[in-house]
Amino acid sequence: MIKRTILITAGPTQEPLDPVRYLTNHSSGKMGYAIARAALLQGCRVILISGPVALSPPAGVRCIHVQTARQMLASVLKYYKKANIIFKVAAVADYTPQKSSGQKIKKTKKRLSLLLVKTPDILATLGQRKKAGQILVGFAAETQNILKNAQKKLRQKNCDWMIVNNVAKKGIGFGADDNQVSLIGKNGENIRLAKMSKAHLAQKILKIILPRGQHS
Ligand code: C5P
Repeated sequence: MIKRTILITAGPTQEPLDPVRYLTNHSSGKMGYAIARAALLQGCRVILISGPVALSPPAGVRCIHVQTARQMLASVLKYYKKANIIFKVAAVADYTPQKSSGQKIKKTKKRLSLLLVKTPDILATLGQRKKAGQILVGFAAETQNILKNAQKKLRQKNCDWMIVNNVAKKGIGFGADDNQVSLIGKNGENIRLAKMSKAHLAQKILKIILPRGQHS
């Protein structure tokens, strides 16, 4: 069988305000790194595009480190054509400061407003550009109307799968070692997996998605 290439984005992005400060989120990168490890074990070639995290990339993975959403987009656009399956696990910042100050912002003002602008939606960009046979998998962290929001994102971003977790629940999701997700497929699939370790979950997710990408 031909060795398949899996592209994974993981971790948060950091959007600089000045040389010492940035906007970010609680993503640890654990889920994306677990998928990278599981894909290697399945004999895939793995490209991991990672935001700043405290994890070491698994040996054998080609890892590209990025900081901002814009850098992540540039890196994804450079590598996505090689990939049979793309897992967009990264928690990309939705907004970035309109300009980052070249110097440290001084605390002289009583009030300080930040003007933020939308970051490029990397997943939606891939949805527009994806090649025939390429499988695009998004991840959605939701706190309400979980299923409905996931189905909407799946359609809007032209994904094949949306893997959705409820981040309002304790002990799963951001930073945790465990996760509980449902896989929503474009052909109406709705597969709810039990709560388990991210390592185990990564294997289960690949077991469901890899065979369906067999002919790509
Ligand atoms: O819209 P939302 O951020 O909830 O969608 C989550 C999915 O979209 C994730 O797969 C995430 O990696 C991706 N995303 C992206 N670029 C953004 C925002 C989200 O690729 N700017």
